[in-house]
Amino acid sequence: MPYDLIVIGSGPGGYVCAIRAAQLGMKTAVVEKWATFGGTCLNIGCIPSKAMLNASELYEEAAHKFAEMGIKVGAPSVDLAAMLKYKQGAVDGNVKGVDYLFKKNKIETFHGAGRIAAPGKVEVKNADGKAQLLETKNIVIATGSDAARLNGIDFDEKRIVSSSGALELPAVPKKLLIVGAGIIGLELGSVWRRLGAEVTIVEFLDHILPGIDSEVAKQFHRILQKQGIAVRLSSKVAGVDSAGKVLKVKIEPAAGAAEILEADVVLVAIGRVPYTEGLGLEALGVKKDNRGRILVDPHYRTSVDGIYAIGDVIAGPMLAHKAEEEGVAVAEILAGQAGHVNYDVIPNVVYTYPEIASVGKTEEELKAAGIAYNVGKFPFTANARARVNLTTEGFVKILADAKTDRVLGVHILGPDAGNMIGEAAVAMEFGASSEDIARTCHAHPTLTEAIKESALAVAKRAINF
Ligand SMILES: Cc1cc2nc3c(=O)[nH]c(=O)nc-3n(C[C@H](O)[C@H](O)[C@H](O)COP(=O)(O)OP(=O)(O)OC[C@H]3O[C@@H](n4cnc5c(N)ncnc54)[C@H](O)[C@@H]3O)c2cc1C
Repeated sequence: MPYDLIVIGSGPGGYVCAIRAAQLGMKTAVVEKWATFGGTCLNIGCIPSKAMLNASELYEEAAHKFAEMGIKVGAPSVDLAAMLKYKQGAVDGNVKGVDYLFKKNKIETFHGAGRIAAPGKVEVKNADGKAQLLETKNIVIATGSDAARLNGIDFDEKRIVSSSGALELPAVPKKLLIVGAGIIGLELGSVWRRLGAEVTIVEFLDHILPGIDSEVAKQFHRILQKQGIAVRLSSKVAGVDSAGKVLKVKIEPAAGAAEILEADVVLVAIGRVPYTEGLGLEALGVKKDNRGRILVDPHYRTSVDGIYAIGDVIAGPMLAHKAEEEGVAVAEILAGQAGHVNYDVIPNVVYTYPEIASVGKTEEELKAAGIAYNVGKFPFTANARARVNLTTEGFVKILADAKTDRVLGVHILGPDAGNMIGEAAVAMEFGASSEDIARTCHAHPTLTEAIKESALAVAKRAINF
């Protein structure tokens, strides 16, 4: 009997889609070409990077903050091999969790590269080259993305690395040069700087963190400099000479002469591109846009009947939770329900120190759209818990519609911002006004009081600032 659904790819989009489909009674299978499930996020993305961020942040705290709080531990040191083992343990635990969930939900799994031979037919070729043909009513493509390459600079994943190589370096590089001041570059730059590398980030644009509210990005740029990360803006990396022991990186600034910077490791973190290799989409006539993303309608239908696509392989922010929401939505649509994703409320987090988290519109976006808004801002220097914790950098900013007071965007630069943004997302999902947040009782002393205070500040009535 054919499957109701075959999902190609077991990242956060694919595995969540398969589970929701199985919950809704569909006979479901997943095809995954890697040895483990969980995709980029669990194997080489969100999970290992957060393990390294967590360990390196605690190391830095032990080195610089413990003494101030009266804790004497001596000078801490890094056992990188043990840290990488801890990271791998975090990955293993999570990928095993997906395996367990597949079994629990009676989802059949096939290891091998999937190719869509025709609508309703998926060929799976395993590592030995053996192929089998599976039949299905519907196919969801969830094959994710891959690191974008810089022209003429190839990854050897040892000295010239993508994020995958940067999460596996066997020794702390003396000098690490990062191409790209986006989320991945800043997170991994933070990890290796804390562990002792001299980090320089080269960014083509005239600001870091494209897409993030510019006030937040500017303040975080200053914090990065204080932390000792050098950032070269408006500069292009034109080539890397890897002939010698040390890499020679040619930098071309928008103004001024080109120069050569030396590095032991170069991390290219200029973004990610959709991954559709080997799926056979061209032969099927599945249409893509000019950036290689599979085109879908609001119901995730591609240009070919019975074939759907979700996650990094389609348009939208390349985020695990966005892929997950789409996985749930497409499974519900296939079951005849009204699956839907609210793209106005997708939180975005940068797991640096301090963290940066946002949801909704930036000031730049509101200005460009001609929407009048009020701003409420509250600094962590005025938050009791942040002061107690010695973590006072940053602020919360709420943008509310000038006419209706509806919250349009929330931006947090500060400790634990990634956890705190959840409150803002729930409020926005329910169409909250800034007054709704301001009148909600928040526990004291918590960092979340800064959200309440910034909501009060929209109407210029913050209490503690
Ligand atoms: C270093 C790094 C850190 C990140 N940190 C975060 C973070 O903190 N938070 C966040 O939200 N996002 C983060 N991301 C982004 C996140 O990982 C992606 O947005 C997410 O994994 C996309 O999910 P997906 O299901 O679309 O695809 P993926 O997770 O990329 O999974 C695709 C899967 O499809 C499989 N596949 C591909 N082709 C085939 C085929 N032909 N046959 C069978 N299987 C196939 C692949 O092997 C892979 O397992 C990070 C990414 C990186 C690289």
